[in-house]
Amino acid sequence: MVEKETDFISDGAKLPVVEEFFSLQGEGFHTGKAAYFIRLGGCDIGCNWCDSRFSWNPDLHPMVATKVIIDRVIESGADSVVVTGGEPLMWTLDLLCNGLKSENISTFIETSGAYPLSGTWDWICLSPKQNMPPVSEICKVADELKVIIQDRSDFEWAEKYHGMVSNECRLYLQPEWSIFETIIPEIVEYIKKNPTWRISLQAHKYMHIP
Ligand code: SF4
Repeated sequence: MVEKETDFISDGAKLPVVEEFFSLQGEGFHTGKAAYFIRLGGCDIGCNWCDSRFSWNPDLHPMVATKVIIDRVIESGADSVVVTGGEPLMWTLDLLCNGLKSENISTFIETSGAYPLSGTWDWICLSPKQNMPPVSEICKVADELKVIIQDRSDFEWAEKYHGMVSNECRLYLQPEWSIFETIIPEIVEYIKKNPTWRISLQAHKYMHIP
């Protein structure tokens, strides 16, 4: 039987790769850690401040065999991978994770949580978006909650998800980059009053690295 492209898509044997690079994590708990980043195409959440719009349409990006992606990670020498997007959970990520873990490579994901979880993860960074809230199951297994703050209403949104994640989950507020100067003072004051939160800055943007 001839396999169709959609068969590969549904079982995760091919994934739409927007870009891959070996760099340093710039955000959240693992800031400063070296990691191989895999940005997958596809996202229908439509955040108005999105800085990755080029990733939204998966048809604009090549479907790459998952085995080839894993080989590239091995070749890079990285000991951990961050899968991001787009919204990476639009795809089935079990094969990717299994292949990476069989090589002792740690698996991290950055997700809005809007789609059911697939894959086996050493670290789940949940960044819930108001346009399409997360499925409830992902909240309890998130290692890190990272909420983008664009205006004051986002603090309420952050607290809503604070109440849904586990007690061990690390909590981060991250200024929306384009209004960084105006929103930072609000975040600083909020964290002074609510010290379970930390600030996440997009350190890679200051270093001019991807
Ligand atoms: Fe952009 Fe991420 Fe929002 Fe999708 S979820 S629109 S990729 S910021």
